[in-house]
Amino acid sequence: MVRKASYGFKACLNCKMLVDKREKVCPNCGNKDFSDEWSGMVIIFNVKESNLATVLNIKKEGMYAIKVR
Ligand SMILES: [Zn+2]
Repeated sequence: MVRKASYGFKACLNCKMLVDKREKVCPNCGNKDFSDEWSGMVIIFNVKESNLATVLNIKKEGMYAIKVR
């Protein structure tokens, strides 16, 4: 079941990490502002060996949205 592009996650407005909608604080950066309006998803397993992580300026393993509105 897929509704829009949210998948039960929301995106942190600061670092774009995708977190469970029940979370109140971003586990990555501590930000409390989230958006349901995101699209595209990348999963980073190893920050040090991922070119994508470098390009997207991601410092920690996790799921991230490509675009957040
Ligand atoms: Zn964050």
